[in-house]
Amino acid sequence: MAWYLRATMKRALVILACLGTALGAAESPPFGFSAERATALRPIELRLHDTIRPDACRREHRIFTEEPHLAGSPRNYELAQYMAEEWKAYGLEEIALVEHPVYLPWPVRYEATLVEPFEKKLSLTEDGVSQDKDSYAADVGIPYCAYSENVDVTAQIVYVNSGNPEDYDVLAREGIDVRGKIALARYSMPYSYRGFKALTAQRRGVAALILYSDPADDGFKKGEVFPWGPWGPESHLQRGSIVYDFNLPGDPRSPGWSSVPGGRFVPAAEAISVPRVAAAPMSARDAGLMLGRLGGPVAPAAWQGGLPFTYRLGPGPAKLHLVVENDKKVRSIWNVIGKIRGREAPDEWVVLGNHRDAWVYGGVDPSTGTATLMETARAFGELARGGWRPRRTLVFGSWDAEEFTLTGSTEWGELEADRLRAGAVAYLNVDASASGPNFSASSVPALARFLREVAMAVPDPSGGSVYDAWRRRQATPAGEEPPVATRLGSGSDYTVFLNFLGVPVADLGFDGPYGVYHSIYDNFTWVDRIGDPGFYYHAAMARYWATAAIRLAEADHVPLDYATYARDVQAYLDEAATSAKAHGVTIDLSAAQAAAKRWEQEAGAALERAQRALASKDTTAVTRIHQALMRVERALLDAEGLSGRPWYKHLLYAPRPTYKPLVLPGVIEAIEARDAARVSSEVGRLTRALERAATTLEATR
Ligand SMILES: [Zn+2]
Repeated sequence: MAWYLRATMKRALVILACLGTALGAAESPPFGFSAERATALRPIELRLHDTIRPDACRREHRIFTEEPHLAGSPRNYELAQYMAEEWKAYGLEEIALVEHPVYLPWPVRYEATLVEPFEKKLSLTEDGVSQDKDSYAADVGIPYCAYSENVDVTAQIVYVNSGNPEDYDVLAREGIDVRGKIALARYSMPYSYRGFKALTAQRRGVAALILYSDPADDGFKKGEVFPWGPWGPESHLQRGSIVYDFNLPGDPRSPGWSSVPGGRFVPAAEAISVPRVAAAPMSARDAGLMLGRLGGPVAPAAWQGGLPFTYRLGPGPAKLHLVVENDKKVRSIWNVIGKIRGREAPDEWVVLGNHRDAWVYGGVDPSTGTATLMETARAFGELARGGWRPRRTLVFGSWDAEEFTLTGSTEWGELEADRLRAGAVAYLNVDASASGPNFSASSVPALARFLREVAMAVPDPSGGSVYDAWRRRQATPAGEEPPVATRLGSGSDYTVFLNFLGVPVADLGFDGPYGVYHSIYDNFTWVDRIGDPGFYYHAAMARYWATAAIRLAEADHVPLDYATYARDVQAYLDEAATSAKAHGVTIDLSAAQAAAKRWEQEAGAALERAQRALASKDTTAVTRIHQALMRVERALLDAEGLSGRPWYKHLLYAPRPTYKPLVLPGVIEAIEARDAARVSSEVGRLTRALERAATTLEATR
């Protein structure tokens, strides 16, 4: 039975308890808790759950989605001020609007005119749809790809499918020269980050890249379109950044340090994260005008999309005059920070974060998460106003400009690097919180057990606990656990915490079918009618987030399971061996395997000692183990960082340029480069990191 349900039953049994009736056998306390502290935790969790209301989430969501609020806009600053005032009224402390001047280009001009086989100006706008007033708004800004190069070019169109390297290889085999042409690529399922498509286009020498939304990927071929269903109408288009943040997230002008007013900067033009190619987003309706007028070979079957004609590769005869102009300005962005100071360990921080900026209204992305953050903060504030304090400090962060280069969170993480390295317990990220009913969690392996336990403690709107619903929806076989994705790539604000600072991170949300991402239809009406009618999943996410945060803030020792982590790493090492074989590279992983084994044993032994110390109330020993557990993730960083992208310091995880997770990035990239000397030096520093992790835990003996 779920912790929450047991607790609810116990609440019902209070009268019996008052009569002196025993409650029966004691259940085991949550991971990291002594029995006494678990007993004290229970009423606080229930108060948090009771305070959180779906209607309050809906009210906040409407406020945050009322107007477009792109990073750098007056509206997004206004929302930051509103948030700060609300947090103060809720009872949060040390509220700050933190300013960062960052390279943040905005669009000036975007025009596209078909000039062959006939002349027609493309609309490049999204139509209003019935029952949704927001989609009729006059000024939603010029759609664009942030960090695109400027271009004014007339060239033939060539269809490049997803715009990945293997797609260009197919074209090359057909004898099609893409150089100087305008490449038309579709957003694709499975997903590859648009910045990777841009990098590939840049390398292949195209004149410009157009990214369009094919109906087979997120439109009418998938099902009912908005406002009747979750999928994108034919005129929807996906804005987005093409920045190379897989090389360097945050302000391109301050690699590894924070952009502050009057601070030190390098020219953006020299940054390894700024693309040298022009790119722009387009709807299927506009792209179809060109795509339907291509000659050349018929595209492969897998490249055929949802538009009602046979897709051909081109080039031409369709020819386009394309003008893309973005300003290259520095603008101020604003993070909002609020805290509830810890009563026993104020320098130990549990950080909850979500971004606030949106491409347009940000219905799902990120305002579902923002409404959830507001409600979570309100629930904690209510406890705080009653005189309660957590053992450790709770830090609430509303990040700006996530949509650009994960900018706000990265600049804040760099600003607070010393304090975070010394005292961060964990970072809990929620980007979109509720676009459907399917719970999904990703985290470092050390947090997976904890996240499952929290799911058992939170009721699901469909009945039972979030854990029960998660199992049901994932059809998890008996005897197995529902999957926490423990291979972390990138694409949201947890990146600085994990890859730069070595803080254990989790990324959480409920999702469902969603075809309006980064379009004007990602708005209040979509969420209210389609994504989460009643806002019950918003409330469930707030309860989940609050429960995870309170447990991390109150636990006797931080609930991190490094034995599981170390076992996962042993599997990664096996994969590296397989990859080396496939690439014909010699590799000796015996020392790394031995270090991972030792880490696993030390982690298991430390947790056993923690159990005994909790039972015997040996607080000195518990604290020693707690402090060691807090340092283990940090031990997996290497100050020099990864080859070619030194900002990325974690040796177990990094994003590939596609955003796909890459485990053991240093070793795997050396293998893929078939560089034997580099392989051996990468294995060496990985082994040392694993040894450090083991030794950190061994020191608690
Ligand atoms: Zn987002």
